[in-house]
Amino acid sequence: MRYKIVFVLFAIAIVNSSSKNSDDEFWGFFGHRLINKTAVFTLPVDLVPLYKSNIDFITEHSVDPDKRRYSSPLEAVRHYIDLDIFGTYPFDNVPRQFPEALAVFGEAHIVTRVERDTVVSWERDVLWSEVFDDSKKEQWSQEIKGKTYKLLDDGFLYMPKSWIPKEYRKSNHELIFTESLTEYGMLPYHLSLYQGRLTKAFKEKNWPIVIRLSTEIGHYLSDAHVPLHTTENYNGQLTGQDGIHAFWESRIPELFATDNYDFFVGRATYIEDTDDFFWDVILESHSHVAEVLSKELEIRNSFDKDKQYCFEERGANTTRLECRAYAEAYQDAMAGMVEDRMRKSIQALGSVWYTAWVDGGSPDVRAHLSELSVDTTQVLQSDSLAIQAPTSNQ
Ligand SMILES: [Zn+2]
Repeated sequence: MRYKIVFVLFAIAIVNSSSKNSDDEFWGFFGHRLINKTAVFTLPVDLVPLYKSNIDFITEHSVDPDKRRYSSPLEAVRHYIDLDIFGTYPFDNVPRQFPEALAVFGEAHIVTRVERDTVVSWERDVLWSEVFDDSKKEQWSQEIKGKTYKLLDDGFLYMPKSWIPKEYRKSNHELIFTESLTEYGMLPYHLSLYQGRLTKAFKEKNWPIVIRLSTEIGHYLSDAHVPLHTTENYNGQLTGQDGIHAFWESRIPELFATDNYDFFVGRATYIEDTDDFFWDVILESHSHVAEVLSKELEIRNSFDKDKQYCFEERGANTTRLECRAYAEAYQDAMAGMVEDRMRKSIQALGSVWYTAWVDGGSPDVRAHLSELSVDTTQVLQSDSLAIQAPTSNQ
């Protein structure tokens, strides 16, 4: 008999997220499409047919998670983590796994279960609440490490009944967590969650879900390769460098990737521990933050002011953008960092897909190729992917 623990985000996470909803703050649609598409060609012959036959979907829908930021207040926090909030590199105080993070940063509440829906209302009766003291956090953290929990595909965390105080153990009672961690972003935890789901989808040979999860994990993994997705100063707003986010991840790739970058990145390889891998990616991204900021400042102060911004026709609009020569100077000052992060995104994505396939039992995709070209309508309707991260009314 197990009870459900629901992930609840603080309202502040929602507030925080709304400040990041701007079209020009992401790898750019160009970059996401390119990374997802190119990653297909890193796959081994046993797996590549599945991805090749769905390559248009994988390319076009690479940007869905960014589009979803406008419709779901829970989405934005999945695209970044403000690591510097927590101290200094390598941030050993930040739990690498979400269940553990819940224990360290969490508060527990028991509530009466009402009809199951995807958004848990905070308005139901709270019967019991506990703000953990340090000893309790340690205890819960240890229990979680001891794998007494089970994270299921629906995003719920099932805990032993013994975790609930005796007087509240009833079948209609739920244990709910609130936590203060993800107001600073939950990108690494979200990647782990997606990897688990993708592996499960392979096990079940659920091809539409495999394609959709593969497409979307490509988005989040690419975001994880961008240094500015790992810092509170994500758009240079704290250092007077507003706009640097799009300059780095949209403008530079759009100008130079197609003609100048080398996308022969090698084969996809098996990843022994994907949780560690996601954290390594993010920590490496974060290690570049200082350079991303300092080089931009250097170029801006040394480059002829009149030649920094140009006006370009974009559809019906005229847009002010960094001039080509100026962008090139910034790119050169960073010694190929943008290209390198993009190349690593592509190789990492192929490897993540490949690893999920292996861990999912390496189902034979070639034997069923006729079934594999996925019906796009079906994929788009299979929207069971929302993490159980309900809003509160605080
Ligand atoms: Zn994103």
